Amino acid sequence: MKLSLLDVQNAAKTISGQADNTPLVPSPFMSEQCGQDFLLKLENMQPIGAFKLRGALNAVLALPDGIAGVTCCSSGNHGRGIAFAAKMRGMRAVVCMSSIAPQAKVDGIRALGAEVRIIGDTQDEANIESLRLAREEGLVEVSPFDDPAVIAGQGTIALEILAARPDVETLLVPLSGGGLAGGVALAAKAIKPDIQLVGVTMDRGAGMHEAIRAGKPTDVPEFVSLADALGGGIGLDNKLTFPLCRDLLDETVLVTEEEIRDAMQVLFFEDRIVAEGGAVVGLAAVLAGKVPDLRGPVATIISGRNADMARFTKIMAGEDVMLGDLVLPGRTYPPT
Ligand SMILES: *Cc1c(COP(=O)(O)O)cnc(C)c1O
Repeated sequence: MKLSLLDVQNAAKTISGQADNTPLVPSPFMSEQCGQDFLLKLENMQPIGAFKLRGALNAVLALPDGIAGVTCCSSGNHGRGIAFAAKMRGMRAVVCMSSIAPQAKVDGIRALGAEVRIIGDTQDEANIESLRLAREEGLVEVSPFDDPAVIAGQGTIALEILAARPDVETLLVPLSGGGLAGGVALAAKAIKPDIQLVGVTMDRGAGMHEAIRAGKPTDVPEFVSLADALGGGIGLDNKLTFPLCRDLLDETVLVTEEEIRDAMQVLFFEDRIVAEGGAVVGLAAVLAGKVPDLRGPVATIISGRNADMARFTKIMAGEDVMLGDLVLPGRTYPPT
């Protein structure tokens, strides 16, 4: 299966009116910080609060009538997208999640009428359950990232960014399984071959970053993180997103929990935007000076808003938060 720009353009038609056209807005504060035009693609404004609706809709709307339903594993947002799409089609949806999934994400999926199964402590274990459901109950499994329809759906973000601002030179993309970065890179480089694409993820359990370094997918540990949406490996049998990210990303950058915390505060206090940790890693990388050749205009994808609000309000109040056994110290904003 070779994906092309045409698949992404077709996905845009399929999802049109449901999951398209989020605003692309300037961030005056970030522009000032980096001395370049800095733009935010607000995928936090999707109806499910995250970009994952694009890929999930594109995949679920393509399924034939009369199937028993759909299943997936998810750290939260893909499951919510699948639940939304399955509800539109009147289909059963079963979302398999690990025990470290935030309760806010479990609740969001259940509120859309899908079943949630909590299995094991990792995305891998949750994935084994979704594959079993596919085998034994005839549900169709939709991978959160390694699926051509999902990748094409996420890629539609690049069409919108470059239609609105063809002059964008650098695109900073949150990176986990690589459905988002793979789809965006595929479309963006087809339209503008010299655009710079930077994948950003957290420094603990960086599956795609490790895979690119090792030359093949590897197992990575999973941690409780502010960027819970970025946890989990890329699958040892990864077919699509590993080659896409390896071949099309110019750079991968890792950020720490402290840097993610600081970026969440900047986005909230300066731009008045509520985003989850996984969504702000592009800002975090720039604020930490970790993007070596930052050519502007720069755009980043604010990929979701589905944060645990108890934790979010603590971060904004400058209080410590617990991440598993790690204490992330509070910082008041603006820093002194
Ligand atoms: C899933 C997700 C990502 C990462 O997307 P991948 O396709 O897994 O790389 C980033 N941010 C948010 C909010 C997500 O839900």
